[in-house]
Amino acid sequence: MIWNGRLSTSAGRFRPGSRNPLFPRPAEIEIASYLRDIPDGPAHIRATVLHEMVHYHLWHLKRPYGHTPEFNEILKQVGGTRYNTVPKERKPRHYYRCIGCLKVIPTQRLLKSSACAECCRKYNNNRFTSFYKLERMDEERVAAMMKKAYQQSISAEKPPPPAEKEEPAMPVNEIIRRLEELKEMVGKKKPL
Ligand SMILES: [Zn+2]
Ligand SMILES: [Zn+2]
Repeated sequence: MIWNGRLSTSAGRFRPGSRNPLFPRPAEIEIASYLRDIPDGPAHIRATVLHEMVHYHLWHLKRPYGHTPEFNEILKQVGGTRYNTVPKERKPRHYYRCIGCLKVIPTQRLLKSSACAECCRKYNNNRFTSFYKLERMDEERVAAMMKKAYQQSISAEKPPPPAEKEEPAMPVNEIIRRLEELKEMVGKKKPL
């Protein structure tokens, strides 16, 4: 389980792992860090972890792991709710972007003169320089950015394409066994 400080459109996220024996990657559950700072935080964290654990459980069983009727049934059994009614972070009113590293910085108020703290630290001995100034993003840009973030958040929860048709991955010990078999065959071959 990972705390994600950038997750603000949802309370949690499930990322499926990889079953490819050559590139294995465990599944991950991300929980939005801001849940630690809100009233009733522990209750929201518990509900979110439970919700994401059901995604994990179904993925582990190689079942469709999206918000299916099966998902809802299991969630009900473990005492979870269909939707997490988690208060969202206070919405930032403005967005700035560093002209150096292109990092987007949301703010509540308008900034008069500002520079990217990270770039100033990294490239200017931690001293302020307008060389890495923050540029205010216009509304069109912000809307495009939000749309992209939203699409990424829903694609992260999309059920996988039918897994049944997928070639089952060969277990590592089976690969090793076949290699040994091959070695033996090659070894028995008489030299000409
Ligand atoms: Zn979900
Ligand atoms: Zn920067």
